[in-house]
Amino acid sequence: MTTDRCPFEEELLDALGRGYVATGLAEHVAACTACRELHLVAGALLDDRALSMLEAPIPSAGTMWWRIRARQRHDAEAAARRSLVIGQAITVAIALALIIAFFGGQLAGQARSVLAAVRLSTPTLLALVLSILATPIAGWLALRRE
Ligand SMILES: [Zn+2]
Repeated sequence: MTTDRCPFEEELLDALGRGYVATGLAEHVAACTACRELHLVAGALLDDRALSMLEAPIPSAGTMWWRIRARQRHDAEAAARRSLVIGQAITVAIALALIIAFFGGQLAGQARSVLAAVRLSTPTLLALVLSILATPIAGWLALRRE
């Protein structure tokens, strides 16, 4: 096996994938060692793939219909779930805005007095604030990956 790369390798792979190698490229393949090896190996793999596709069992029409329905149902559920999450986020934002609008000054004063009463070191307080901020973000990321 040679380690030399030829600039025509990508073009040759594309041509093999299409199943047609143009005359100019075929002449290059005959003259170039790297392309000849690539043609031999990739051609065998592509031939094997094509043979496997021909021999693969074709599912029945009922099975295909069931798969299509299941995929449509899954897509519809995903779209509904997205809309639900957006609606919940808007609701929570509105609720927080209302709470702040109605009780903002009072809550800020109480929060200041609570924070003044609690004696936490700066790193502990920083860790607490970071965990409070990171928990909803981690939850959102976990839900997003599903
Ligand atoms: Zn070449």
